[in-house]
Amino acid sequence: MPTPIGHALGGIAAGAAVAGRGNHRWLGSHPWLILSVWALCGVLPDVDFLVGGHRGLTHTLGAVAGVGCVTAILARRRPLLWLAATAAYSTHLLLDWLGADDAAPLGLMALWPFADAYYLSPYSLFPAVCRHVSSVGCRVDLVEAVVWEVLILGPTAALAVWLRRRQRTDPRVNPLRPD
Ligand SMILES: [Zn+2]
Repeated sequence: MPTPIGHALGGIAAGAAVAGRGNHRWLGSHPWLILSVWALCGVLPDVDFLVGGHRGLTHTLGAVAGVGCVTAILARRRPLLWLAATAAYSTHLLLDWLGADDAAPLGLMALWPFADAYYLSPYSLFPAVCRHVSSVGCRVDLVEAVVWEVLILGPTAALAVWLRRRQRTDPRVNPLRPD
């Protein structure tokens, strides 16, 4: 599974790609604040780590639906906003599925409540995250994992943000009045 940095980049990529023009006004005009919201959505499923569990209910289709419902209620007049938050949250499940896992049960219960089986991609795009950070070898592994995630997900997130900014500023791309 990726580190929080990889998950944050995944959330930014999905949030920026899906968020529609003009849906950021509720956050003001601070781009870093907006990107932080998408990053937070991407990292949010790992909140179960704080209560001793991991890859539990927060890593399921049911949780994605829950996030969609809550954000739809909070931003019911901004469908692209809650879609973007839900998409950013969903990237976490995809990236964890694509990550190596060395702690049983392997994978995540992605399709709950429709199925309670654990799923893990047969091809690992991301290495397992070492949790014994007191050892030097573990820290080296973590640095390598972060570098790999930035190389894989950084360009995707940067492209999504760049396209989003271009859409906002270029009237030929989006003829609507700027914010
Ligand atoms: Zn996770």
